[in-house]
This record gives sequence, C-alpha cells and structure tokens, in this order.
Amino acid sequence: MMSSFWFDTAYFAGVLLFIIGLQRLGHPATARRGNLLAAGGMGLAILAAIFSPLQTDYGNFLWIILGLAIGAAVGFMAAKRVQMTSMPQLVSLFNGLGGACAVVISMVQLIGVEQTSPMSQPELGTILLTLVVGSVAFTGSLVAWAKLDGRLKDNALVPPFPTIFNMGLLLVSLGMVIYLAIIGEGSSLWLISLLAISLVYGITFVSPIGGADMPVVISLLNSFTGLTAALAGLIYGNQVMLMGGILVGSSGTILTVLMCKAMNRSLWNVIIGGFGSSGGGSSSAAAGEQVAKELSRPDAAILLAYSQSVIIVPGYGLAVAQAQRACRALDNELTARGVDVSYAIHPVAGRMPGHMNVLLAEVDVPYEKLLDLEQANEALPNTDVVIVVGANDVVNPSARTDTGSPIYGMPILDVDKAGKVLIMKRSMRPGYAGVQNPLFFLENSFMLFGDAKDTLQALLQETKVGV
Ligand code: NDP
Repeated sequence: MMSSFWFDTAYFAGVLLFIIGLQRLGHPATARRGNLLAAGGMGLAILAAIFSPLQTDYGNFLWIILGLAIGAAVGFMAAKRVQMTSMPQLVSLFNGLGGACAVVISMVQLIGVEQTSPMSQPELGTILLTLVVGSVAFTGSLVAWAKLDGRLKDNALVPPFPTIFNMGLLLVSLGMVIYLAIIGEGSSLWLISLLAISLVYGITFVSPIGGADMPVVISLLNSFTGLTAALAGLIYGNQVMLMGGILVGSSGTILTVLMCKAMNRSLWNVIIGGFGSSGGGSSSAAAGEQVAKELSRPDAAILLAYSQSVIIVPGYGLAVAQAQRACRALDNELTARGVDVSYAIHPVAGRMPGHMNVLLAEVDVPYEKLLDLEQANEALPNTDVVIVVGANDVVNPSARTDTGSPIYGMPILDVDKAGKVLIMKRSMRPGYAGVQNPLFFLENSFMLFGDAKDTLQALLQETKVGV
C-alpha cells in the first residue's frame, strides 16, 4: 500500500502528464512525444489506483492483473495491426469501450455493491447520468464504427420520424434519471429499463446522421465519453479520473465546435438534420451528360515542372493509396526545380480529424508548407497548378451553389479557381457524401486516373527523366 503522500504525488504527476501530453498533441512535430507522455500519465494513474491507500481489500489483485493483461494485449495488438485507413474505425471502437466501462461502473455501483448507507440524491443522479451518457457513447460509437467501415448503410436502423422519436427517448431517459434520483429508487427493473432506452437512443441518435456530417458526430461521441469518465471520477471521488474526463470531454467539445464550423452547420442542425448522405443534389446528373478530360502523365509532368506554384490537396484517397511518401518525393523534386509547393488541408479531409496532418507528418512534410482552409483559399486563385490527391467532397464546388446537395454550405477548398487542376482518383465514383463532383468537368480540370501512389510515382519518374 502507498502512503497518502506518494499516492497524491502520483495522481498529481499523472494529471500533469495528461495536460503536457495534450498540449504537445497540438503540433505534428511534438505529437508523438505528447502521446507517450499522456500514456505514461495513464500508467501512473492506474498504478496509483491499484495501490491506493483507500483500498481496503487486496483479495482481487489477480482479477485486476488479469483484466489489465488481457486489455493491454488486445489494445496493443489492435493498434499494431490496424491499417492506417482503418484508424478512424479503431478510434470509434476505443471510444465506445470507454462508454461501456462507464455503464459497467454505474451498474456495479447501483446493484453490485452493498451500500452501507443510502445514497444521496446527487450521488444517485450522478450514477444514473453516467449510465445514460455511457450507454449512448457505447452504442453510438458502434454505429459510427459500422458506418465508417462500410458495414452499415447510411439509412439503416433509422426509426420512423427520427427527430420526434429521438427527442422522445432523450426526454424519457432524462426524466427517468431525475425521477429516480428524487425518489431514491435504484432497483434492477428501473435500471434495466433506463439502460435499454439509453442503448437504443445511442443507436437511433447516430443512425440518421451520415455522409459528410460524420466528423461532427464522431467528435461529439468523443466528448460524451470524456463526460462519462469525469462523472465516474465524481462517483469514486477519484481526482485523476475526473481531470482526465474533463480534458477528454472539453477537447472533444472544442473539436465538435471546430468540425461544425468546418461544415458550416450548427450542432443542432447536424443532430436533427437527418441524412447528410442521401446522394441527392442536382450535380449528380451532370456525370451522365458531361465528359471529364484526361491528361497523359508526361503532359502532366511538363505542366508541373514549368509551374511557379503548386498546391497539393490530399484527401481520403491519399490514405487508401498510402501515397504520402510518393507525394513528398514529387514535392522534393519540384521544389528542387524552383517550384513553390505547399499543401492545402481541409479540416474534414480523410476519415478522422487531423487525418491528413498525421499522414504528412509521417513523411516529415515541414509544418510551414501546410495551409489551412482560409490560407489556401487566399492562395488558390494565384496558384498555377493544383494536384488533388484522392480528395473529392472537400473540393466539390456544388457545396457553394447546389442547395439540394447534402454538402451544401460546407466551406470547400476553392481549387476550381486555380490555373489548372490535376485530379488523381481511380474512377468517376463519388466520395464519402455520395455526390458527383462538377469540378471534374470544368475547363481547367484534368483527370489522372489510377491509384494515387502509382500516378505520383509515374509523375516523379517523368519529371526526372523526361522534363
Ligand atoms: P472523399 O471520401 O470525398 O473522396 C475520396 C476520394 O478518394 C474518392 O473519390 C476516391 O475515388 C478516391 N480514392 C480512393 N482510393 C484511392 C486510391 N487508391 N487512389 C486514388 N484515389 C483514391 O474524401 P475527402 O477527403 O475529399 O472528404 C472526406 C469526406 O469524409 C467528407 O465528406 C467528410 O465529411 C467525411 N468524413 C470525414 C471524417 C473526418 O473526421 N475527417 C469522418 C467521417 C467522414 P475513386 O474511388 O474513384 O478512386
């Protein structure tokens, strides 16, 4: 058993490491170390909790170690094996497990532990709220995982009149929390009903949200899990859990606000807005009537080599093709020839917040070369050539004009305003939001069909030998 001094010190150091780690995650150059520091803080917090001076019964050490070993092994293997393109799904699953933990903690507190004295109303209310938010985070994250993984269609599991249905479930579950806390009732039947309603609400809350709105719901679920961790910290009077939960909850909330801003949608509009992915929009018809022009690789290489400025726009296809290294190699070659090369990063490009930044940091693209949405849109009209590497929705000009489009109103990268646009993709298939892209048919747009990595490597070769 630890002395109280060492216990408090370990918790303090754990919280400090969380905060420093989080701060370092804010920059690609320090993110890796930040992650390790935060993981170290978590390790310290776990050890301190196990050897806490508040522990009265050491008879369950074997169970704790067994649980830790199984959890650590599964987490390690999953993180080691996951493909970069499946990272968003893994993050959703991990998030859901956080919610499931909160559910288990509240159930144990309510029916698994013999209470020496009756719970106060705030105590009972906190535990019931943890149960509700944890359940929503759990099933909601599972639905998000299935959607991201392409296992669940966007219109699956949607209840009739989703807004009314969901408002009803939300009001019933919150009403039950308040009522049960007031009457001091925590019996199994009530709990099972509350649990079932909350689990269903998690599913029906996320199922109608789809397409381009997914980034918002993912960060919102993340903040729910943080909230449950903070509530669990309150239940146990555990400061490190409370602080960790507050950090996750508040950063998730900030991310949700940023994602809403990136989509130009209010959170309320995303939640009640229903499908963001119905595939509608008048632009989809354009595909049948117009023909997109192709450009040969040698011609594209000449165009690039004789440009003064090039902006690369990475998207989800960059992750699929694992083309970041080839992209950097072409960047190096063009830069050596005196071309000014930079990268335009859209906040929702890829399948998770910061997806493109992670890929580009992997190949040491200097941070100064990265332009955010506003900077890029200022630079694009004066740019000679844009290379769109597996991006689609984030460069779709119909978002500006087509009121019927599910991405209408989302700020996009205005690549159509650049001199020439080279678009790398494998086919004319639409992107995540399921809408056709009129960019492909513009006068200044040229398609380079094929896997992005192969195309980039071919362009590099052509630039080196042919130009
Ligand atoms: P998109 O999903 O719109 O488009 C990706 C494009 O990449 C596709 O058109 C595809 O075309 C192409 N592609 C796929 N594989 C390859 C390959 N190997 N080589 C070349 N091209 C390839 O991606 P964006 O990044 O433009 O937009 C992201 C979308 O995902 C937005 O709608 C966003 O809302 C959504 N989203 C974002 C999340 C986030 O947090 N960032 C989370 C969830 C959803 P083709 O098949 O023809 O090759």
